[in-house]
Amino acid sequence: MQAWIADPATRHLERVSRAVPVPAAHELLLRVRACGVCRTDLHVVDGDLPAHRPAVVPGHEVVGEVVALGPQAGRFRTGDRVGVPWLGGTCGACEFCRADRENLCDRPSFTGYDRDGGFADCCVADERYCVALPDRYDDVHAAPLLCAGLIGFRAWRMAGGASARRLGLWGFGAAAHLVCQVAVAHGQEVHAFTRQGDAGSQDFARRLGACWAGSSGDAPPGPLDASLLFAPVGELVPAALAVTRKGGVVVCGGIHMTRIPAFDYALLWGERQVRSVANLTRRDANDFMALAARLDLQVHARPYPLERADAALADLRAGKLDGAAVLVPGQA
Ligand SMILES: [Zn+2]
Ligand SMILES: [Zn+2]
Repeated sequence: MQAWIADPATRHLERVSRAVPVPAAHELLLRVRACGVCRTDLHVVDGDLPAHRPAVVPGHEVVGEVVALGPQAGRFRTGDRVGVPWLGGTCGACEFCRADRENLCDRPSFTGYDRDGGFADCCVADERYCVALPDRYDDVHAAPLLCAGLIGFRAWRMAGGASARRLGLWGFGAAAHLVCQVAVAHGQEVHAFTRQGDAGSQDFARRLGACWAGSSGDAPPGPLDASLLFAPVGELVPAALAVTRKGGVVVCGGIHMTRIPAFDYALLWGERQVRSVANLTRRDANDFMALAARLDLQVHARPYPLERADAALADLRAGKLDGAAVLVPGQA
């Protein structure tokens, strides 16, 4: 099969030919029908995250068709469409797993980081961590739900869900464009903050229902109840706090962020909170897919043939995408 592997030494993807993996135990062998490209893949390729598995195949928004089952697998059948998210496995025994917080597991394995992911024609995934996908989304449009959608959803819940009336979204890419629609559907006022002067992304946010869009230095019309940060830029933490009302929360949704500059305590005073959101649980995945099945989200996805994975990553790095890049095998 054809696959791409991460090479942090060169900050590039390398295209290789590999044997099709054999599903063990609870694993499924999947033919990849589509795989989204996430900023975390960039961090893996660039070496912003410490390497966990040599020559790993990135990709953790995998829409796959089951083609074979491991000896202990039985939750799905051949021909089923399943989604493979970032959380690829947990230990089941640590204090976090036992406390229903498996997203914080001490010995997790993540898809496209600890396990080979979906930048390939085929991959294997533990069926216990796979999720069924809503039928209303085709493969290309279902893929971004698996991380951009899910992490955005978890961050949104961490910020109080629908109770935050005035919500700020910082960095209007794949995650924000989905959570924006979730928030608007719940009657929230969405404020979108983009890179300086990025009028295209600001228009995109308004088209998806944001009541206000501006650059990250601009003042919104009033104080916000909560902000979700998706851009990996530490300076945005004090910037978001500065426009957050007393008792409000700033949630950092990325796995990596540049250094947060020192800021005056006055920005945090008044019971404001700053917190991160890490990974996801299987419950998050099921809850979000149920919501996505009801909401008819407009998923903005740009398909790339699998052969052009390096171009997709370059476009994401350059901020050229509205919505999400999605790799599609067999479309050269
Ligand atoms: Zn654990
Ligand atoms: Zn991701």
